[in-house]
Amino acid sequence: MPNTPNTIEKQYHLIETEKSKEIIQKAMDLAREEIPKGAVATYIPELSKIDPHQLGICIYPLSGEKICLGDYNVRFTMQSVSKVLMLIVALEICGRKKVFEKVGAEPSGEAFDSLVELDMNNDSRPYNPLINSGALAVCGLLLPEVSFQDMLRYAREICSDPGITMNEKVFDSEMKTCSRNRSIAYLLESKGIITTDVEDTLRFYTKMCSLNVTAESLANLGKKLANDGVCAITGKRYLSSRTARIVKTLMLTCGMYDGSGTFAIMVGIPTKSGVGGGLLSVSDKRAGIGVFGPALDAQGNSIAGCKLLREISNELRLNLFYDPEWNKDDDDHTVVNEMIDASVGI
Ligand code: GLN
Repeated sequence: MPNTPNTIEKQYHLIETEKSKEIIQKAMDLAREEIPKGAVATYIPELSKIDPHQLGICIYPLSGEKICLGDYNVRFTMQSVSKVLMLIVALEICGRKKVFEKVGAEPSGEAFDSLVELDMNNDSRPYNPLINSGALAVCGLLLPEVSFQDMLRYAREICSDPGITMNEKVFDSEMKTCSRNRSIAYLLESKGIITTDVEDTLRFYTKMCSLNVTAESLANLGKKLANDGVCAITGKRYLSSRTARIVKTLMLTCGMYDGSGTFAIMVGIPTKSGVGGGLLSVSDKRAGIGVFGPALDAQGNSIAGCKLLREISNELRLNLFYDPEWNKDDDDHTVVNEMIDASVGI
């Protein structure tokens, strides 16, 4: 029987809170089993001290109660999730034309801190704003326009979390070990992409990565993106709907680095990861989701967090391309699933 618009609508609604809580709790138990297969980031020495066994989630539907489980209010550094904030502010202040003169909108297929493709490409722009090179290019645009204090204020507002501060220890630790980002930034200067002071740009970027958030703050941010930039409770607009659309699209295609394609197939929710263990997900028109799980897979994405989102997207029908047939047994489908499972940690 083909789906009629009516049945599709029913399939797509988040089910009631108590039932959802049960489903999410089960998914958490399953996801925890993945933790031993991952490891916390060590290339930023301060991050290596984090307990890898933590796992928390907050799902905040546009209408309805917030569901918070596990370590949802533990603070961790935003790391690459802050690339979303930087992109939002750059698009809002500088406009699309200026932003996409400096950075592309294509997946790179490379690690987040790669610099090989930067110099092999005729186009001197980094592939996209959600990898390190692209975010550094965006910082070059932001630096003359806003201060770090302005960014901190905006982060606190859009995350509805006045407790966000910069984690000085993580910032100092990363600044001492950021030779790769420094190399990327100087390469971008040599290509005329960064025209601001390189060291100042690098410091601005690293400060943004060091913002201390919780899974709950990320869910608050995701909820505003899910509602096209507007707070569903107060009606206040935080960003234009055009900016929201660009950001969500890039999260879907590039948010999980070289794991983005597989994640889109298996989870189908625009998501941005960070090596602090955070995941910001936007279930469009439905909910904002924040996850914290610091043990990472080979791509630098939260290993248990990805598994958790995969389970939830199936069970709560949050996948953008939800297909009720997906989990049915079929030899060919099982083989494809196994191939995909082997390629990344979800
Ligand atoms: N601060 C980190 C870096 O620049 C962010 C990377 C990440 O979260 N993937 O290397």
